[in-house]
Order: sequence, then structure tokens, then C-alpha cells
Amino acid sequence: MSEYYRCWAQVDLDALRENLSWLRHKVGPGVQLMAVVKADAYGHGLKEIAALLMQHGANMFGVANLGEARIIRNIGHNWPILMLGACLPDEVDAVVKDEVMPTISSLDEARWFNDSAKKYNKLVKAHLKVDTGMGRLGVEPKRALDLLYSIKNLENISIYGIYTHFASVEDDAEFSLDQKKQFNNLLNNIKNAGINIPLVHADNSGAIMHEPDTLYSLIRPGLLMYGVIPSGTRPLESVLKKYLRPALSLKCRVSLIKHIPKGKPLSYGRTFHAPKPMQVATLTAGYGDGYSLSASNKAMVLINGKRCPIVGRITMDQMIVDVTNVPIVRPGDVAVLIGRQAEDEIPVHQLAEWMNTIPYEVLTNITYRVPRLYKSGFAA
Ligand SMILES: *Cc1c(COP(=O)(O)O)cnc(C)c1O
Repeated sequence: MSEYYRCWAQVDLDALRENLSWLRHKVGPGVQLMAVVKADAYGHGLKEIAALLMQHGANMFGVANLGEARIIRNIGHNWPILMLGACLPDEVDAVVKDEVMPTISSLDEARWFNDSAKKYNKLVKAHLKVDTGMGRLGVEPKRALDLLYSIKNLENISIYGIYTHFASVEDDAEFSLDQKKQFNNLLNNIKNAGINIPLVHADNSGAIMHEPDTLYSLIRPGLLMYGVIPSGTRPLESVLKKYLRPALSLKCRVSLIKHIPKGKPLSYGRTFHAPKPMQVATLTAGYGDGYSLSASNKAMVLINGKRCPIVGRITMDQMIVDVTNVPIVRPGDVAVLIGRQAEDEIPVHQLAEWMNTIPYEVLTNITYRVPRLYKSGFAA
């Protein structure tokens, strides 16, 4: 079926399921798992995988906006959902009505939710974010206890969770230790003040890999769940690579093959001139599919098991690759942009390096026109 598409992403549901089981197993039964599914589940298609995540170990969902929350609501009516970003003032009522848990950092936000909850006769379960070094959201640790006391006086909001976020856990052990200390100190003070907060969490994928003592009562994996390991300089437990499998691969097709003479320039801007007579192939994917222009003259693709470099600038719907060293290549052949073919693999982190970005951006840049095809050995 995939043979009729020009550029498509294949999502291996077995890989997703196994990655989740492995994460579940790794943290044990006492720790809950929030599946982070912002940006259409990191490009994998939220609507299509939400039920699978519910069935295979996700206790909660982390989303970026109300649209994503509603997709989950439509599938699992009472499933807990946390909005990871700050809520806009005009979203407050909808968040309260939909019973999405907001992330709050200030008393102002707590008051908005309290007022709205009063109006709709609800009790808002909020998560308080603590800024231990990320600098994006969250209350300063030294002001958190006062904030908690103030929120205690508001009748329609309760603090159900408290969390922080690591800023450079894949690279900087020292800074992460400092974040950890600040958070643990605060947790101690909260405990000593006799305040009980049911959920405590800090771990994104990087922290799950590098900070085994910060699991608390819930983890928040995104990238690892999709089988991709965040890049970084801190040494890594080697088992991760063995147990996690990337769920997404990206493919397109060969549309035309040409022989070109030495010196011929290729594509917009003529950034590539053939150094010798070459055989080149035109492929049916470009930056309109999310394959970034920045990979021009740098990235490789797999065709019939061989690595083929991209030559010249990537265009909106097409790009050109050098297939001089591919013994047999025909129009219609599949080219792998991310994933395995025969014995070789282009992992997403390698493509990210070629594009001078991170795996997160490569995955979430795959555009709407790229169909996601779901594959599973299990009966659906
Ligand atoms: C996106 C996000 C995560 C997941 O991050 P990964 O690195 O993909 O695991 C966790 N927590 C918060 C607050 C996030 O915004």
C-alpha cells in the first residue's frame, strides 16, 4: 500500500508498545508514567496511538494545548491529562470544564483557576511547577512554600502535583545535581510543613537515563517512548540502546534516474557541481515534507541498502541523490530517509546532526502531507 505514496512515515506500533513496557519495567510499579504526546505525539500521530498508550502503561498524558487534550478526552474519558505549558487567560474556562490539570507557577494563575472552578462548581487539580534552573515556567524554590500556603486558602483549587524540569541533563551533571538539590530541599520543607502533594515528578527522557534517583512518583518520558535516545555528552547506560527501538521511519521513492557529465551543476543555487560523470536519482521528498533544507549536500539516504549522499539543494517536493555506487536502482524504488534498510540504518539523531538540530525537531517537523502508516504484528 505504501508504494502509492511519495513520502510517508511508518510507525511501528510494536516498537512503541515494547518501549513503553520497558520504561514501565525500568521504573517499577510504584511510579506512574505520563506519556508526553505534545506536537501530535512527536509527529507520530496522537489520535492513532493514544489508545495504545492507554493500554500499555500510560497513567497520564502530558500535552501542550487544549486540542491535544481533547483528542485524548475523546478516547479515554477520564484519563488524567496535564497541560505542560502555562495556560492562556482565555483558555482557563475550557481547561476547567474539560477537567484538564493545569500547570501553574504563580498566585495569579491559581486565582484564575479558582474563580473559574467556582463558576462551574468544580475542583481544579493543578500541578505547581518549580523553576530550579530551566527558567521557562515555575516559581522560584524559595517562594514556593509561601505560594502553597496562599493557594491553600483557595477553595476550588488543590495542588495535586509538584514538578520541575531539567535544563541540560544530557550534558551537565553538575548543573543537574544543583537542580536536584534545590528540588529535594523544597520537597523536604514541604513535608516538614505538613503539606501533602500526591504527585512529585521531574524526569523527562534525559533524566530517566542519567538521574536514577529522581523518579519520585511519576516520570514524564517523551522521546524515549518513541524509541529515540536524546543526544548528549554524559555517558550512557548501554542497555538503553539494546531495549529501545525507534518507532518511526520516513521513506520516499526514486522518481527519475539520470547520468550527468563532469562539471554539471545541480538544483537551485548550483551549490553542487559533479566532480566526475555521475548517476543521480531524483527523490519524491523535500522540505515540504519536513526534510529540512539544511541537510542539503550533507545528509545521506538509503537506497537498496546503500548510502547515497544528497547532492545540491533540497527543494520543496524533490531532492537529488548520488546513486553512482548503487548497482541496481530503478524509478519506484524506496529510499529510506530515517530508519533501517537491509543492514544499514539512518537513525534520527544522525539526520538531526546533518540538519544541525536535535531529534525532537526532526520528528516534529514532518509535515501534515506526509501520511502516517501504522504497522503492527499484533491484531489491532
Ligand atoms: C516535553 C516535555 C517532557 C518530555 O521530554 P522528553 O525529553 O521528550 O522526554 C517532559 N516534561 C516536560 C515539562 C516537557 O515539556
